[in-house]
Amino acid sequence: MATCLICGSGQLEVFYQGTIRMGSFGKWSETDHTITQCRDCGARHLPPLMGNLDDYYRDGTYRQDLDQGNTLRKYFELTDDDQPHRLQLLGPHTARGKVLADIGAGAGPFLDLVKGMAATTIAVEPNEAYHASLQERGHVCYGSTAAMLREWAGKVDVAVSFSVIEHVERPREFLEEIRAALKPDGRLLTSTPNADDLLLEICPSYPRFFYRKVHLWYFTPAALSRLANLAGFAACRMIHQHRFDLANAMLWLRDGKPSGVGKITTSPALDDAWRNFLQQSGRGDYLYAELKLS
Ligand SMILES: [Zn+2]
Repeated sequence: MATCLICGSGQLEVFYQGTIRMGSFGKWSETDHTITQCRDCGARHLPPLMGNLDDYYRDGTYRQDLDQGNTLRKYFELTDDDQPHRLQLLGPHTARGKVLADIGAGAGPFLDLVKGMAATTIAVEPNEAYHASLQERGHVCYGSTAAMLREWAGKVDVAVSFSVIEHVERPREFLEEIRAALKPDGRLLTSTPNADDLLLEICPSYPRFFYRKVHLWYFTPAALSRLANLAGFAACRMIHQHRFDLANAMLWLRDGKPSGVGKITTSPALDDAWRNFLQQSGRGDYLYAELKLS
Protein backbone atom coordinates (compact mmCIF):
# COMPACT_ATOMS: atom_id res chain seq x y z
CA MET A 1 0.00 0.00 0.00
CA ALA A 2 1.30 3.44 -0.91
CA THR A 3 2.34 5.73 1.90
CA CYS A 4 2.77 9.48 2.01
CA LEU A 5 6.38 10.43 1.20
CA ILE A 6 6.09 13.37 3.60
CA CYS A 7 4.45 12.02 6.76
CA GLY A 8 4.44 8.24 6.19
CA SER A 9 0.65 7.96 6.51
CA GLY A 10 -1.12 5.19 4.59
CA GLN A 11 -4.25 7.36 4.32
CA LEU A 12 -3.97 8.49 0.70
CA GLU A 13 -7.17 9.27 -1.18
CA VAL A 14 -7.78 10.13 -4.81
CA PHE A 15 -8.29 13.89 -4.98
CA TYR A 16 -8.31 14.44 -8.75
CA GLN A 17 -8.43 12.10 -11.70
CA GLY A 18 -8.26 13.50 -15.21
CA THR A 19 -6.03 15.03 -17.82
CA ILE A 20 -3.22 17.32 -16.69
CA ARG A 21 -1.02 19.95 -18.35
CA MET A 22 2.16 18.64 -19.96
CA GLY A 23 3.59 22.04 -20.98
CA SER A 24 2.01 25.38 -21.84
CA PHE A 25 -1.80 25.87 -22.07
CA GLY A 26 -3.39 23.39 -24.49
CA LYS A 27 -0.78 20.65 -24.11
CA TRP A 28 -2.94 18.19 -22.19
CA SER A 29 -1.95 14.64 -21.27
CA GLU A 30 -3.31 11.93 -23.56
CA THR A 31 -4.41 9.82 -20.62
CA ASP A 32 -5.89 10.54 -17.20
CA HIS A 33 -3.63 10.94 -14.20
CA THR A 34 -4.34 10.64 -10.50
CA ILE A 35 -3.53 13.23 -7.86
CA THR A 36 -3.73 11.79 -4.35
CA GLN A 37 -4.19 13.74 -1.14
CA CYS A 38 -2.82 12.62 2.21
CA ARG A 39 -5.54 12.65 4.84
CA ASP A 40 -2.99 13.26 7.57
CA CYS A 41 -0.66 16.01 6.27
CA GLY A 42 -2.90 17.29 3.45
CA ALA A 43 -0.24 17.31 0.70
CA ARG A 44 -1.35 16.36 -2.80
CA HIS A 45 0.96 14.28 -4.99
CA LEU A 46 1.38 13.42 -8.65
CA PRO A 47 3.76 10.45 -9.13
CA PRO A 48 6.65 11.47 -11.45
CA LEU A 49 6.01 10.95 -15.17
CA MET A 50 9.57 11.73 -16.20
CA GLY A 51 12.39 9.16 -16.04
CA ASN A 52 15.34 10.04 -13.82
CA LEU A 53 14.40 13.21 -11.96
CA ASP A 54 18.03 14.29 -11.38
CA ASP A 55 18.77 14.11 -15.12
CA TYR A 56 15.50 15.91 -15.90
CA TYR A 57 16.65 18.99 -13.98
CA ARG A 58 20.42 18.73 -14.60
CA ASP A 59 20.20 18.75 -18.41
CA GLY A 60 17.41 21.34 -18.56
CA THR A 61 14.76 19.01 -20.05
CA TYR A 62 12.28 20.48 -17.56
CA ARG A 63 12.66 23.90 -19.22
CA GLN A 64 11.35 22.38 -22.43
CA ASP A 65 8.37 20.94 -20.57
CA LEU A 66 7.66 24.45 -19.32
CA ASP A 67 8.04 25.69 -22.92
CA GLN A 68 10.51 28.24 -21.57
CA GLY A 69 13.73 27.22 -23.35
CA ASN A 70 17.06 26.87 -21.58
CA THR A 71 18.80 30.18 -22.36
CA LEU A 72 19.83 32.73 -19.73
CA ARG A 73 18.19 35.51 -21.69
CA LYS A 74 14.79 33.80 -21.71
CA TYR A 75 15.11 32.93 -18.03
CA PHE A 76 15.74 36.56 -17.05
CA GLU A 77 13.00 37.81 -19.37
CA LEU A 78 10.48 35.58 -17.58
CA THR A 79 11.65 36.05 -13.98
CA ASP A 80 13.45 39.38 -13.41
CA ASP A 81 10.24 41.29 -12.69
CA ASP A 82 9.22 38.88 -9.88
CA GLN A 83 12.35 39.52 -7.81
CA PRO A 84 11.87 43.01 -6.25
CA HIS A 85 8.60 41.81 -4.64
CA ARG A 86 10.47 38.86 -3.14
CA LEU A 87 13.19 41.08 -1.73
CA GLN A 88 10.48 43.32 -0.31
CA LEU A 89 8.92 40.31 1.46
CA LEU A 90 12.31 39.34 2.86
CA GLY A 91 13.06 42.92 3.89
CA PRO A 92 15.97 44.46 1.93
CA HIS A 93 18.04 45.13 5.05
CA THR A 94 17.89 41.42 5.92
CA ALA A 95 20.46 40.67 3.23
CA ARG A 96 23.03 43.27 4.32
CA GLY A 97 26.35 41.60 5.21
CA LYS A 98 24.73 38.15 5.33
CA VAL A 99 25.35 34.72 3.81
CA LEU A 100 22.36 34.17 1.54
CA ALA A 101 21.60 30.94 -0.34
CA ASP A 102 19.05 30.51 -3.12
CA ILE A 103 18.00 26.85 -3.39
CA GLY A 104 16.87 26.21 -6.95
CA ALA A 105 18.32 29.55 -8.00
CA GLY A 106 17.75 29.02 -11.72
CA ALA A 107 19.86 31.52 -13.65
CA GLY A 108 20.14 33.64 -10.49
CA PRO A 109 17.87 36.70 -10.88
CA PHE A 110 17.21 36.98 -7.12
CA LEU A 111 20.89 36.58 -6.24
CA ASP A 112 21.80 39.29 -8.74
CA LEU A 113 19.42 41.64 -6.93
CA VAL A 114 20.90 41.04 -3.43
CA LYS A 115 24.55 40.68 -4.51
CA GLY A 116 25.41 44.29 -3.67
CA MET A 117 24.25 43.90 -0.06
CA ALA A 118 24.99 40.29 0.89
CA ALA A 119 28.47 39.20 2.02
CA THR A 120 28.16 35.90 0.13
CA THR A 121 25.56 34.74 -2.37
CA ILE A 122 25.22 30.98 -2.88
CA ALA A 123 23.36 29.39 -5.77
CA VAL A 124 22.18 25.79 -5.51
CA GLU A 125 21.04 24.88 -9.00
CA PRO A 126 20.90 21.46 -10.65
CA ASN A 127 20.60 22.89 -14.18
CA GLU A 128 24.23 22.93 -15.37
CA ALA A 129 23.47 25.32 -18.25
CA TYR A 130 23.46 28.20 -15.73
CA HIS A 131 26.56 27.33 -13.67
CA ALA A 132 29.29 29.16 -15.61
CA SER A 133 27.29 32.38 -15.75
CA LEU A 134 26.32 32.17 -12.05
CA GLN A 135 30.02 31.90 -11.15
CA GLU A 136 31.02 34.72 -13.52
CA ARG A 137 28.51 36.96 -11.77
CA GLY A 138 30.19 36.24 -8.42
CA HIS A 139 27.84 33.66 -6.92
CA VAL A 140 29.20 30.53 -5.22
CA CYS A 141 27.57 27.69 -7.14
CA TYR A 142 26.63 24.08 -6.30
CA GLY A 143 24.65 21.45 -8.20
CA SER A 144 22.85 20.17 -5.10
CA THR A 145 22.04 21.15 -1.51
CA ALA A 146 24.05 18.12 -0.30
CA ALA A 147 27.17 19.50 -2.04
CA MET A 148 26.54 22.98 -0.58
CA LEU A 149 26.15 21.51 2.93
CA ARG A 150 29.68 20.09 2.85
CA GLU A 151 30.97 23.67 3.16
CA TRP A 152 28.07 25.69 4.52
CA ALA A 153 26.20 23.54 7.08
CA GLY A 154 25.03 25.84 9.90
CA LYS A 155 26.58 28.92 8.25
CA VAL A 156 23.75 30.36 6.16
CA ASP A 157 21.82 33.38 7.53
CA VAL A 158 19.04 33.49 4.96
CA ALA A 159 17.84 30.87 2.50
CA VAL A 160 15.29 31.46 -0.22
CA SER A 161 13.67 28.90 -2.51
CA PHE A 162 11.03 30.12 -4.93
CA SER A 163 8.74 27.77 -6.89
CA VAL A 164 11.00 24.78 -6.25
CA ILE A 165 9.46 22.58 -3.53
CA GLU A 166 6.62 21.47 -5.84
CA HIS A 167 9.25 20.00 -8.20
CA VAL A 168 11.25 17.81 -5.81
CA GLU A 169 10.66 14.13 -5.16
CA ARG A 170 10.87 14.36 -1.37
CA PRO A 171 9.84 17.78 -0.01
CA ARG A 172 10.46 16.90 3.64
CA GLU A 173 14.09 15.91 3.02
CA PHE A 174 14.44 18.99 0.80
CA LEU A 175 13.44 21.27 3.71
CA GLU A 176 15.52 19.28 6.20
CA GLU A 177 18.62 19.88 4.08
CA ILE A 178 17.90 23.62 3.93
CA ARG A 179 17.35 23.61 7.69
CA ALA A 180 20.79 22.00 8.13
CA ALA A 181 22.39 24.85 6.18
CA LEU A 182 20.89 27.56 8.41
CA LYS A 183 22.39 29.22 11.47
CA PRO A 184 20.25 28.77 14.64
CA ASP A 185 18.66 32.20 14.04
CA GLY A 186 18.48 31.71 10.28
CA ARG A 187 15.34 31.70 8.21
CA LEU A 188 13.95 30.46 4.93
CA LEU A 189 11.58 32.29 2.58
CA THR A 190 9.96 29.78 0.25
CA SER A 191 7.06 29.86 -2.20
CA THR A 192 4.77 27.59 -4.19
CA PRO A 193 1.40 27.70 -6.00
CA ASN A 194 -1.55 27.57 -3.61
CA ALA A 195 -3.59 24.34 -3.77
CA ASP A 196 -6.45 26.24 -2.08
CA ASP A 197 -6.65 28.53 -5.14
CA LEU A 198 -10.35 29.53 -5.42
CA LEU A 199 -10.39 28.89 -9.17
CA LEU A 200 -9.85 25.15 -8.49
CA GLU A 201 -13.21 25.14 -6.77
CA ILE A 202 -15.28 27.39 -9.02
CA CYS A 203 -13.88 26.81 -12.53
CA PRO A 204 -14.31 23.29 -14.00
CA SER A 205 -11.62 23.79 -16.69
CA TYR A 206 -8.96 25.07 -14.24
CA PRO A 207 -7.80 21.82 -12.53
CA ARG A 208 -6.32 20.27 -15.72
CA PHE A 209 -4.34 23.52 -16.11
CA PHE A 210 -3.30 23.69 -12.44
CA TYR A 211 -2.14 20.07 -12.13
CA ARG A 212 0.88 19.63 -14.37
CA LYS A 213 3.65 17.21 -15.24
CA VAL A 214 6.46 19.33 -13.77
CA HIS A 215 4.77 19.72 -10.35
CA LEU A 216 4.87 16.59 -8.23
CA TRP A 217 3.43 18.28 -5.12
CA TYR A 218 0.55 20.67 -4.38
CA PHE A 219 0.29 22.41 -1.01
CA THR A 220 -2.53 24.21 0.74
CA PRO A 221 -1.40 26.70 3.42
CA ALA A 222 -2.20 24.08 6.08
CA ALA A 223 -0.24 21.34 4.27
CA LEU A 224 2.79 23.59 3.77
CA SER A 225 2.73 24.60 7.41
CA ARG A 226 2.51 20.93 8.47
CA LEU A 227 5.43 20.04 6.16
CA ALA A 228 7.56 22.84 7.66
CA ASN A 229 6.79 21.49 11.10
CA LEU A 230 7.67 17.89 10.13
CA ALA A 231 10.96 19.13 8.64
CA GLY A 232 11.93 20.63 12.00
CA PHE A 233 11.06 24.29 11.57
CA ALA A 234 9.51 25.81 14.69
CA ALA A 235 7.64 28.64 13.01
CA CYS A 236 5.93 29.06 9.66
CA ARG A 237 4.35 32.39 8.72
CA MET A 238 2.17 32.32 5.61
CA ILE A 239 2.06 35.25 3.20
CA HIS A 240 -0.75 35.04 0.63
CA GLN A 241 -0.54 36.48 -2.82
CA HIS A 242 -2.94 36.69 -5.73
CA ARG A 243 -1.23 37.66 -8.96
CA PHE A 244 -4.25 38.12 -11.26
CA ASP A 245 -7.16 40.52 -11.56
CA LEU A 246 -10.90 39.87 -11.37
CA ALA A 247 -11.09 39.91 -15.18
CA ASN A 248 -8.77 36.88 -15.34
CA ALA A 249 -11.19 34.86 -13.16
CA MET A 250 -14.21 36.05 -15.17
CA LEU A 251 -12.53 35.03 -18.44
CA TRP A 252 -11.49 31.64 -17.02
CA LEU A 253 -15.16 31.03 -16.21
CA ARG A 254 -16.31 32.24 -19.65
CA ASP A 255 -13.57 30.84 -21.93
CA GLY A 256 -11.84 28.15 -19.87
CA LYS A 257 -8.38 29.57 -20.51
CA PRO A 258 -5.90 32.02 -18.99
CA SER A 259 -6.08 35.62 -20.18
CA GLY A 260 -3.31 37.37 -18.25
CA VAL A 261 -4.42 40.65 -16.65
CA GLY A 262 -6.30 43.71 -17.86
CA LYS A 263 -8.42 42.06 -20.57
CA ILE A 264 -11.72 43.41 -19.21
CA THR A 265 -11.83 46.89 -17.71
CA THR A 266 -13.10 46.81 -14.15
CA SER A 267 -12.57 49.41 -11.45
CA PRO A 268 -9.27 49.46 -9.54
CA ALA A 269 -11.27 49.42 -6.30
CA LEU A 270 -13.05 46.23 -7.40
CA ASP A 271 -9.72 44.61 -8.27
CA ASP A 272 -8.24 45.62 -4.94
CA ALA A 273 -11.26 44.15 -3.15
CA TRP A 274 -10.97 40.91 -5.17
CA ARG A 275 -7.27 40.52 -4.40
CA ASN A 276 -7.72 41.43 -0.74
CA PHE A 277 -10.58 38.95 -0.36
CA LEU A 278 -8.51 36.11 -1.85
CA GLN A 279 -5.37 36.95 0.09
CA GLN A 280 -7.16 37.39 3.41
CA SER A 281 -9.12 34.16 2.98
CA GLY A 282 -6.06 32.17 1.85
CA ARG A 283 -7.62 31.47 -1.58
CA GLY A 284 -5.12 33.34 -3.80
CA ASP A 285 -3.05 31.61 -6.46
CA TYR A 286 0.34 31.74 -4.74
CA LEU A 287 1.87 31.21 -1.30
CA TYR A 288 5.00 32.48 0.38
CA ALA A 289 6.07 31.04 3.73
CA GLU A 290 8.71 32.31 6.12
CA LEU A 291 10.18 29.45 8.14
CA LYS A 292 12.29 29.84 11.27
CA LEU A 293 14.19 27.38 13.44
CA SER A 294 13.21 29.02 16.71
ZN1 LIG B 1 1.13 12.90 4.49
